[in-house]
Amino acid sequence: MNKLFFTQEHYMIRDMVRKFAETEIAPVARELDATGTFPRELVKKMGKLGIMGINVPEKYGGAGLDMVSFATAIIELARVDASVAITMAAHTSLGTLPVLLFGTEEQRQRYLPGLASGNTLGAFGLTEPQAGSDAGATKTKAVRSGNDYIVNGGKIFITNAGEAQVLSFTSQVIEGDKNVGIAAFIIQTDTPGLEIGEKEKKMGWKASDTRQLFFKDMKIPADAMLGSPSDGFKTFMKTLTSGRVSIGALSIGTAQGAYEIALKYSNEREAFGKQINKFQSVGFSLADMATKIEASKLLVYNAAWMKDNGYDITKEAAMAKLFASETAMEVTTDAIQVLGGYGYVKDYDVERFFRDAKILEIGEGTSEIQRLIILRSILKDLQV
Ligand SMILES: Cc1cc2nc3c(=O)[nH]c(=O)nc-3n(C[C@H](O)[C@H](O)[C@H](O)COP(=O)(O)OP(=O)(O)OC[C@H]3O[C@@H](n4cnc5c(N)ncnc54)[C@H](O)[C@@H]3O)c2cc1C
Repeated sequence: MNKLFFTQEHYMIRDMVRKFAETEIAPVARELDATGTFPRELVKKMGKLGIMGINVPEKYGGAGLDMVSFATAIIELARVDASVAITMAAHTSLGTLPVLLFGTEEQRQRYLPGLASGNTLGAFGLTEPQAGSDAGATKTKAVRSGNDYIVNGGKIFITNAGEAQVLSFTSQVIEGDKNVGIAAFIIQTDTPGLEIGEKEKKMGWKASDTRQLFFKDMKIPADAMLGSPSDGFKTFMKTLTSGRVSIGALSIGTAQGAYEIALKYSNEREAFGKQINKFQSVGFSLADMATKIEASKLLVYNAAWMKDNGYDITKEAAMAKLFASETAMEVTTDAIQVLGGYGYVKDYDVERFFRDAKILEIGEGTSEIQRLIILRSILKDLQV
């Protein structure tokens, strides 16, 4: 399948990231998960390899690679460790994209070189206690005061929040007495008035850092705004559209990791005098897993390729995220079944892949929200 979307360069990137994941991440993945340790050393190493700036143009110090490369790198990381993959994906797509897409030249010069090198880690704060799927219900307020804004409110479930040096976030903007819309802002995380909560205790993605943020009379300069309030909502929706390709890729990696373990195990494990993959039910389960993963790859790479070639991918990114994340949940569940009792204990890692899969159906837009986006899009097409 890769032949459809891959040039020689894409194969080289895949091999490079796969080698890194297998030699550097695989030996520590189980331990990072068990202890909930943020992979700080691995982030540094990924920075040196150019992975943390994979989508940033070379003139800002990044690798300047396309979306197909970006998806490939995430698949290879998630195939071994989804926590490391989401740390990189949240940094590159959510943390870096807003300034890349909507920043002024001054903002880009200021933030992108650090983000691209991995020396500064990025995070993106959109979700609030009452504003998850309903992202427009943001209550955080930035009130204009001279050349500054005073921000009050907060965000929840923010990936990389406790480790990031740079944060983009969304807020209502109040100018005079008027609410002029929702805008995105970019700030340093050492800004006075920004308080960072405790690390969340999660079902999966345990090594990834997820926290609540509080803005308490946080004073930020007016030029911290990305774009304008009139297109603020569009700003973060565009960021999320690309983010969906990355969650689709993460889903493929998660499914692939579990599938490969199940396939190998099915070849080694014997019951009733034969390998278990000779039983049709086990064999068909493996065939279904392989087919769903292949279909997910087609959807994710199609969305990535379309983005690289200038197409609007609102529908395609939603389809890719929806199908791939549901595939990850199904494949990791079935992989445990193939391993029987050994799938349920930690020695074979499939239970880690299973725990890491569920969030893929929730983060960056739940499956229900993806279906809404797809439906809206196909009904719109009908009217043309
Ligand atoms: C580990 C983790 C990491 C995260 N990282 C980030 C991050 O870095 N930045 C960030 O901003 N956010 C982040 N999030 C938040 C995540 O994007 C939200 O949790 C997600 O968008 C869902 O929002 P919610 O939790 O408020 O659920 P809700 O919106 O309350 O949804 C609850 C249920 O209602 C359904 N529902 C809601 N509206 C509709 C509708 N119109 N039609 C049909 N069904 C609907 C949903 O599908 C869901 O099943 C993270 C979350 C987690 C758990």
